[in-house]
Order: sequence, then C-alpha cells, then structure tokens
Amino acid sequence: MKIFLKMKKIITALVFTALYGTVFGQTALQPFSLSEVRLLAGPFKQAQETDKKYILSLDADRLLAPYLREAGLKPKAASYGNWENTGLDGHIGGHYLSALSLMYAATGDTKVKERIDYMIAELDKCQRQNGDGYLAGIPGGKEIWKEIKAGNIKSSSFSLNGKWVPLYNIHKIYAGLYDAYAVAGNAKAKQMLIKLTDWCIDVVSNLSDQQVQELLKSEHGGLNEVFAHVYAITGNQKYLKLAKRFSDQSILNPLLKNTDALNGLHANTQIPKVIGFEQIALLDKDPAWADAAAFFWKTVVEHRTVAIGGNSVREHFHPANDFSSMTESREGPETCNSYNMLKLTKELFLAAPSNTYLDYYERTLYNHILSSQRPDGGFVYFTPMRPGHYRTYSNPQESFWCCVGSGLENHGKYGELIYAHRANDVFVNLFIPSTLNWKEKGIQLTQQTLFPDAEQTTIKLQLKSKQRFALHFRQPAWVEQGKMTVLVNGKKVMTKSDANGYASIDRTWNTGDVVNISLPMHTTTEFMPDGSDWVAFMRGPIVLAAEIDTLNQPNLTADGSRMGHIASGALFPISEAPLVTGPKNTLANEITLTDKKSLTFSAQNAIYQPRYKTLKMVPFYTLAEKRYVVYFPYSSEQALPERAKAIKLAEEEKMKIEQKTVDLVNPGEQQPESDHNFKGEQTDNGTYQERHFRNGKAWFSYVLKNKDLAGNKLSLTYFGKEKDKNFTILINGTKIENVKLDGSKGNVFYTQEYQIPKALLKAELEVKFVADQGSAIANIYEVRLVR
Ligand SMILES: [Zn+2]
Repeated sequence: MKIFLKMKKIITALVFTALYGTVFGQTALQPFSLSEVRLLAGPFKQAQETDKKYILSLDADRLLAPYLREAGLKPKAASYGNWENTGLDGHIGGHYLSALSLMYAATGDTKVKERIDYMIAELDKCQRQNGDGYLAGIPGGKEIWKEIKAGNIKSSSFSLNGKWVPLYNIHKIYAGLYDAYAVAGNAKAKQMLIKLTDWCIDVVSNLSDQQVQELLKSEHGGLNEVFAHVYAITGNQKYLKLAKRFSDQSILNPLLKNTDALNGLHANTQIPKVIGFEQIALLDKDPAWADAAAFFWKTVVEHRTVAIGGNSVREHFHPANDFSSMTESREGPETCNSYNMLKLTKELFLAAPSNTYLDYYERTLYNHILSSQRPDGGFVYFTPMRPGHYRTYSNPQESFWCCVGSGLENHGKYGELIYAHRANDVFVNLFIPSTLNWKEKGIQLTQQTLFPDAEQTTIKLQLKSKQRFALHFRQPAWVEQGKMTVLVNGKKVMTKSDANGYASIDRTWNTGDVVNISLPMHTTTEFMPDGSDWVAFMRGPIVLAAEIDTLNQPNLTADGSRMGHIASGALFPISEAPLVTGPKNTLANEITLTDKKSLTFSAQNAIYQPRYKTLKMVPFYTLAEKRYVVYFPYSSEQALPERAKAIKLAEEEKMKIEQKTVDLVNPGEQQPESDHNFKGEQTDNGTYQERHFRNGKAWFSYVLKNKDLAGNKLSLTYFGKEKDKNFTILINGTKIENVKLDGSKGNVFYTQEYQIPKALLKAELEVKFVADQGSAIANIYEVRLVR
C-alpha cells in the first residue's frame, strides 16, 4: 500500500522516541477519555446506537450463569448456547463487561451503568465464593488449574489440559474487570482484578519460566497486556514480572530481530500478545520491545493486509507473497483481528504520533469495523474478499463467537481517537462528527461534517476565556500534498506542517472561532499486496464495492450451530466475476462519480463483460446483506484472452470439488478443527509447503456433518513423497481402510478417495485415524466428505 512507504523512517523514529520520547519524553500524545467525547449524527453514532440496543438485549444473568455455576452457586438463568455452553463458557461475560464500560463512557447512559454495577456485584459474589481470587466460567476450570499448578501441563494451540483455550477465555474477564475500573470507574472491579491477578501469580508460582512458556503455546489473548495494566494501576513490580513471564518468547524473539515468521500462524492469537509487548515496553521503558511491536505492525499492515484493513484467511496468516487463498476462501479477514490491530495501532500512535498509523486506523475503522455490524444489529465474523460472496451476521440470542464479543466492544469506542492532546494543544485525528469537552482546560470543540459524503469538516470552538494553544490537523495520505486548505473564520490561513503529517495553527483562540478544513479526495486503485492481478478501488480512505445481488444467501443470520458464523451459501464462480481491464496507471480514472451525495460510482468504463456495465460502486461500509465485490480480477488488455481462459480453467476444477463437498476439515487449523470436535492423543500439527496438516503416533478424530446423508466418500489430501506411514481409518468405530503410503506419488499434493459403506452413513460421522503398531499417521492436509 502506498500510504505505508514512509514506514521505514517511522520505525527508526519510533526506536528513538521509545528511548527519548514521552511516555518516555516529549512527543507522545495523551488520549481523551471516551466520556469527554460525544458522537454527533452520522454513521458512527448510528452504529453506536445499534450496538447499545444489542448490548441491552442480552440477558446479564444468562451471561453470568457459567461464573455462578463454577463458583458452586445457583445460576439465576440458563447459560446461553453456542460457544457459551460448549467449552468457552463465560468468554462473552468478560467482553460484555468491557463493552458495557465503553458504551457507558461513550454515552453516559445510566441503564448501561446499572448493568455494569449488577455484573460486578454478581461476579464479586462468585469470586468471594471461590475464595482464592479465582473467577471464570471455564467448565471444570478449577481441576485443570490444580493440575497446572502442580506442573502437569498439556498445552497446544487451542487446548490446555483438555479444555478449549482456557487462558484465552479467562483473559476476557481480566480485560472486562480492567475496563470496568479504568473506563467506567467501578472501584470494586479494581480490587477484583488485583485478586484475580494474585490468583494467577499463585498458580504459576512453582512453575519454571520454561513451563510458563509451555502454557503459552495455548491461545491466551492479551494476558501480558492486562498484567501490565495491573502493574500500571498498582505500581507493584510483581505484576510487571508476571506480564513479562506471560510474554510468548516464540513470537517475541523473531520480532526483536525484525523477522517476519508469521506464515501459517493463527493470526488473532498473536496480535494481542504484541499489544502486550508494546504495553510492557512503555511501562518498562524498553525500546527493544517497542521496536518489536512496531515491526509487527509494519509487517502485518504493509505485507499482510487487504484494502479494508483486515488480514488473514481462515484465521491464519497465509504467505505474504501469495494472496490466492484470500480471493478463493469464503473465510476472509476476521473482525477480531482488526479489533486487536486497532488497539495496537492506538498504542503505537500515541507513543509515537504519526499519521501513517492513523491512515491505517481510519481505513480499518470505516471499511472493516463499521461494515462489520448489520444496520439493525448483528456482527460479522469473516469478511470474505472472494468476489460475489457475502457475510453472515450474528443473532443476539443465539450467536456467541469471539467476534460477537469483540463486536460488542467495537462500536462503543469510536470516540477514542478522534482527538488527542499534548500539553495545551489539541490534535484532530479523524473527521467524525462529534464534540470534545475538555473541562480541565475550558475548551469545547464541535466538529460537524458529512464526511466522506462531503470533502470538508468544520470545527467550532467554545472557550471559557480566550487562550493560546495549537490546533493540529491530521493531513491524511489520501489528500494530495498541498491540497488541504484551512480557513479560520472564513479567511484562508497558512499552516505549519510537521514531520508527523499534521498541519498546525498556533494562535490565541476566541470563543466562537470557526475552522474549516477542506479534504479533497480522489479515486485510487489498490492491487493485492502480493502484486497479483486483483484490484480494489478507493475514494480517499473509503473502499468502494460493487453489489452483485442478494440471491442465495443461506444463513445470512447465523443460527446457533457450531459453524453458524461461516457464510455457507454457494460460492460465486470467479470466472463469472466482473473483470476489470485497462492500463494500470489510469485505471482509477475509469471509475466515474455519478452521485456525489451517496458516493456512488459507475465502473462502466473499466469492466470487461457487457452484462456488468450497469454495475454501481458504493462505499463498502454501506453495503450490508448483499453479495459484493471488493477485489476485482484484473487483466491488461493484451492478456485478456489468456487471463479469462486461465480463470475459467482453475475455477472449473475448484467448483467441481466445491460442489461435491458435503463437509470439510482443514487439519491443523484451529477453528475448523475445533468446529469439528477434534480429539486425539500423541498427535501434532504443522505446516509443509505453506499448507497446514495434522499427523500422529497414536490417533486423532473429527466429527463431520453429513447433511441429508449426501456424502458417501472420504477424500483425504496427502503429500506424494510421504512413505512408511501405515494407519487405519475408522468411521463411527468401524474400520473402512488400512492405508499404506509408499512415497510413489512424487513431489505433489494429491487426494485419495475412500468409499464409505452404506451401512455406516449417518448424519454425524466420526472419522478417526489410528496409527498402526510401530508406524504413524501421515500428514493429512484436508479431510473432505464428498458425494
Ligand atoms: Zn473473532
């Protein structure tokens, strides 16, 4: 992405700032609290209202039920279903506390505050009943903590001592308590947070650092970040020590060497760890850790991020030089990842203010976060970049995925970075209609704008008395150099530009002064970060998308099933997608603005197929409940015939497989495995030639869904050179095949189909792989149930 070209300089600057800057020195900015900022009418305010309704529609007693149950108290209502009663019990309760805290600070709504106070009072009962500071909804959690305390640790990416990511789960209640205190001002929450942290210190007190690192193989959210916060609010070094112990060295070490070792890793497991590295760096004044965090940001944003600001496919970082899975998969960027990337961006920006961080923040806010909420409520998990696919939205009473948890929080904190300050100066970072009430300085500021439908914003000052300070305005990368103009009380003024990309007016201000900033936008193209022939169009920071249709979108609203978050409707053939053609350097000019008020464009001049000539492009964030195109396949005019043929061939093969598929597991990938009730002993996962696999010396199994009993064959993907692997495949306990791999298929991946006897066909098929005596199960790359 063009806007990130300046990053090298900024990284160097950041190291410098980290050493001499303000949290370390002079240059850092202070955020305003959410309660000092109020949104005014516009898409963000609307999203905030929608979220508040969703939040208030949830039943606190049902969210509290797992906590009461685990404390040995009687729940007042039944737990919610979905992820809330299949192992991740209580995770939403933690997010809920954070979401309520943000929403209360952002709106001052007393109904929301009452809910916080109620949650804290009930959770306090649970914590007291537990007696040792423990507080969580993890089913049977107390048992595993005993095992872990005794040094009996069985840890893998998505399980710990047989439970579904308990450290990830408990992190949510840590974060919830912290937010209830730090954001919403609930004093009791602070004491509860400290008790819960002391409980953790006790659990790991007899473990070596190596054993703690072993624990951290299992997904654990941002535990290091929250422990750093506990240090910040208590000043007690033992919490800083805990934060450092809970920092995963296997992720930190490559980052310290500025190495991107992210291929194949579960993306949202890593991002929160890095937020923690940055937080620890700030408190511990450690420039090396700050540099590691900035490097992570840079490599993810520059090399692994698509136009909407999101990253990863099927939750994992794919190779940075190959985005093919991004345009093929129905499981594109996950909302949680962007939620966490924005957290990281905020911290990095405040510590070393640069508009490069905010260009990313703004882009992600509009194009991923804002678009991830349904206009009348509901959150999105995956936002596919595959042309013609769609998104599934959560149902408030049935869906309890991670992205519902982070989704509840997302839309309550739009005010967090619109403004910031340093000494007496005010920074205007984002062009979102809002008021800032800086009581301490007697400064009130009202920003009115229809941006991005209008290319300007107006700021009005109300001051207790006239005073001198500087107003700094962000000059976004999407405004061409020298094109931003600033008027004060209707007169054009000269501004000073600083190295961080801000224009400043330093003067004595009077109440009633009005500042007008023009923000001329133009249309740009953005090719896939790997340079492949896929192109997105942007107007300023706004991603444009084409609506294909609203047809055939089963599970547009998710049900409560384990995989309900995936938009499971038929894939739109890529060979049928609107193809863009023309010289690359003038392509953006071919997209013409037809209605300025709604930012609607015609792509008539750029699209190849006659049937798409009437296609309209609109801001992606306004396109809900539709099949859409963000990235268009692109071809130069010369390559057109070949490109069209190649797309068609590749597509036909994939569509054939897709149409045959009844259910699919991607072994070694966290969510697909967990969704298919993965079990196993002495089994391992990894990647080979960038593909995930699972193998084993004993056994592992999945449960596949055989809808309408349509599937009658098992299709497995192996690597051709693998040999001396003998194992048995069982279906619901009955052996269907004895597999012997001899390495004769050569240097390629291949699939092998196995017939399932009719007598074994059921709606649920447990597929089990068992190693033969003295041998092992081969690397299995794909498990498909096919018709
Ligand atoms: Zn998520």
